[in-house]
Amino acid sequence: MSDCLFCKMVSGDITPDILHSDEHVMAIRDINPQAPFHALVIPRQHIATVNDLTPQDAEIVGRMYLAARTLAQANGFAEDGYRTVMNCNRLAGQTVYHLHLHVLAGRAMHWPPG
Ligand code: AMP
Ligand code: ZN
Repeated sequence: MSDCLFCKMVSGDITPDILHSDEHVMAIRDINPQAPFHALVIPRQHIATVNDLTPQDAEIVGRMYLAARTLAQANGFAEDGYRTVMNCNRLAGQTVYHLHLHVLAGRAMHWPPG
């Protein structure tokens, strides 16, 4: 997807602050952090939204959560806790239409979410 921001990061056309990279996913620091630690886990393949997932994507979603766990552990947030969020479409506030998992940590989170 040539006009997709996160595909440009995966291809290297745009260089974000990369926190983790492997053959399945990348994790970058969010440019507009909503917590002291705010990362985005991005699959290397383009999937627009949660609605577009197929059974063939089950592994990549699992890989995204494994990367979130690794990030939380590596940055010292695993014990105290952290939040993972995937926004889907307009009412959830999705702005980038390439699947991504927010990993937020370093402060108490509110529930219900806003
Ligand atoms: P969402 O609103 O769930 O689609 O999340 C998109 C996220 O991407 C937002 O938290 C933005 O702050 C973040 N974002 C947008 N552009 C960039 C960028 N160039 N580098 C890092 N994060 C970005
Ligand atoms: Zn994309």
